[in-house]
Amino acid sequence: KCRVLICGGTGCLAGGSDKIYQKMLELTKNDGNVSVEFGAEIAHTKVMKSGCHGFCEMGPLVRIEPHNYLYIKVSPDDCEEIYQKTICEGKSIERLLYHMDGQVYASQEEIPFYAKQTRLVLKNCGHIDADHIEGAMVVGAYSALEKALFEMTPESVIDMIYESNLRGRGGAGFRTGRKWKQVASQKEKIRYVVCNGDEGDPGAFMDRSIMEGDPHRMIEGMMIAAYAVQAQEGYIYVRAEYPLAIQRLETAIHQAEEIGILGDHILGTNFSFRLHINRGAGAFVCGEGSALTASIEGKRGMPRVKPPRTVQQGLWAKPTVLNNVETYANVPMIIQNGAEWYLGIGTPESPGTKAFALTGNVRNTGLIEVPMGITLREVIYDIGGGIQNGKKFKAVQIGGPSGGCLTEKQLDSKMDFDSLAKIGAMIGSGGLVIMDENTCMVEVARFFMSFTQRESCGKCVPCREGTKRMLEILERIVAGNGKPTDIDELRELADMIESTALCGLGKSAPKPVISTLNAFAEEYREHIEDKK
Ligand code: SF4
Repeated sequence: KCRVLICGGTGCLAGGSDKIYQKMLELTKNDGNVSVEFGAEIAHTKVMKSGCHGFCEMGPLVRIEPHNYLYIKVSPDDCEEIYQKTICEGKSIERLLYHMDGQVYASQEEIPFYAKQTRLVLKNCGHIDADHIEGAMVVGAYSALEKALFEMTPESVIDMIYESNLRGRGGAGFRTGRKWKQVASQKEKIRYVVCNGDEGDPGAFMDRSIMEGDPHRMIEGMMIAAYAVQAQEGYIYVRAEYPLAIQRLETAIHQAEEIGILGDHILGTNFSFRLHINRGAGAFVCGEGSALTASIEGKRGMPRVKPPRTVQQGLWAKPTVLNNVETYANVPMIIQNGAEWYLGIGTPESPGTKAFALTGNVRNTGLIEVPMGITLREVIYDIGGGIQNGKKFKAVQIGGPSGGCLTEKQLDSKMDFDSLAKIGAMIGSGGLVIMDENTCMVEVARFFMSFTQRESCGKCVPCREGTKRMLEILERIVAGNGKPTDIDELRELADMIESTALCGLGKSAPKPVISTLNAFAEEYREHIEDKK
């Protein structure tokens, strides 16, 4: 059986993949199916729209199975040739294949961008039609839920997640099993399961791609969490700027309800679970747990003082499991394969894989998934193909506006929670912005500070006023009006904000400034001195 998978992720759609899909439908008589005779055999071909394939730089992408040809930068004008040569004759079209350093890559799996990846969470992204639950079920969707419901107790589910040492992929790396244990141990019996799909970091699109490309994996993870803590209701908080993700989630929920996987008495058991989608209005601060739950409750999205923590009093003051999209998407495979299997991937303290959005001045931008513990060098040079236009690497901003800036000296650092914390950076949600030798690091710090300042909710003075003052200083340095005292003032303000702001947004807001100051102090000084 032959499948033509046209990338329907946001990036490829923006590049016109919908027109390619429509053209292929026309060529296959508008139903997406064509049967072609190969001698005595008939090959049945299905044309489908899939989620993100990951190699966004080369989009629009079309993958042809079973040959595994990956056609890049496809246009609607290429469709007739694809139909005649590849679908009808089984031959590849060389000009549409990926070329690098004089080599042509026929099979997707051999392309260096994919070869060094370990795609587990993203395994089905680009390989299934996210609008049809049947395709997801053929590749195992909801089989882990079935195992949990029929072969495991809620306690044994929590134990397995705890033993797997799955750590939250949203930023802090808190142990998921511990969180679930804390919720399950509360006296209050009304509990909620909430998914943080807010993903507000500039340059990050991992969660969006999972929701668009394989929504059932995440929903299944949420349902397993609900069974484990005996919650009956859940919410997916997803920003309204992700219309395609919302549409695919709505379709997935509706289809799961129709076949009895979601709703009352799931698969004939006593476990019932209802799932709702809550659209966020795009405030970065709503990625913070207490602001997110306040926003679902219809209040203004502002963080509150803790304790009580979300596990004790979260949504509507009830015990709440709050994890992000990627964390939930890890859960089904752990239940299916066991904690030992999971511990064998990545590092002992940060097992599993991590999805990153690789962007900036790197040759191959896109969505990648790698084992924890891989080095930055491998990600940038082996997967990313190095720096664009033969330029030199200068720095990478990791973890978005809350993260840090790493330089050439740290290229061999391991990418896992603890190794990055030791060098003053964090994985964050997984944004990686690569910068070349021409990048002005003071401008980078100004950009991130202007973002956090704009997104500050204004509740506490250190963040509301402190980020404004830091931004003013950075703006005047960039504009050529810097003062000799500016660097000291920046450090002083950063110290004050980090130690007194109420929530993580404020506490981490100075990080891009401090890490660029530490690594590129000379550049700041040159800016100030040049303009005297
Ligand atoms: Fe709001 Fe900033 Fe204070 Fe957080 S630190 S509560 S974002 S003002």
